[in-house]
Amino acid sequence: MKIPDTPFRYIGFVVLVATLYSCANYNLYTPRYDQRLGDKMKREIENAPLKYPILAEAEHQRIYDYINGIVDALLNTGLLRYKDEFAWEVKLLDDADVLNAFVTPGGYIYVYTGLIKYLESEDQLAGVLAHEMAHADLRHASRQMSQKNSLSTVLAVAGGATGTGYLTDIGASLVSLKFSRSFEKEADRMAIRLLCATDYQADGLAGFFEKLESTESTRLPAFLSTHPNPGKRVEKIKKSATDLNCQGSTTNRRTYQRMKRWLP
Ligand SMILES: [Zn+2]
Repeated sequence: MKIPDTPFRYIGFVVLVATLYSCANYNLYTPRYDQRLGDKMKREIENAPLKYPILAEAEHQRIYDYINGIVDALLNTGLLRYKDEFAWEVKLLDDADVLNAFVTPGGYIYVYTGLIKYLESEDQLAGVLAHEMAHADLRHASRQMSQKNSLSTVLAVAGGATGTGYLTDIGASLVSLKFSRSFEKEADRMAIRLLCATDYQADGLAGFFEKLESTESTRLPAFLSTHPNPGKRVEKIKKSATDLNCQGSTTNRRTYQRMKRWLP
């Protein structure tokens, strides 16, 4: 695509940009771009073991098997649009003090051991995983980039600057990407639909937020800084689960407690 070269074409171009601005659902990037960005972020994370101490899979196979079992249950709902395209790979980050989880574009999921230890049952972890998977499947990172950088990105795309150079600039900063509130709500809604299609108690995610609310504020910073306002989320999540008439009741509390003892 070339930058238009006649006044008439410019009008069309401006209309295109204005239209893009007006709609939060547009995405200037392809799913393939999400994958490449995720691959790059995964490499950056692997190359920074002090900042991201990945728990070795070979030495902790049963923990990874347990968590991959939850991810598989969520994937098998058939509700993820990019089930086959994205990676859906989980890595645990070994830091007992961090209550957080995040996902890259393209579905690389990172969960801190601190969060796993903090949670009480499998449905709560399934809720957090479903929420992170929803962010990736709904392509929130590239959609957010599309909104924030609309004009400059349109020009970059129009000028053909879609190679790895552009990726180099944004990869690392995205790890701490904070999603807009509307994307957080969208991820919560999709997480409930995912959980509702499994055997898990569908408001597991609400259980997690309720626990956060009852925790002393000094231990909260990480997750709350990227996931604000748990109070209203709890109500909304519970209401969605009721509205959807979710029937699942599995919490696997005892199995979950046993798994926690496998952690370093
Ligand atoms: Zn989120």
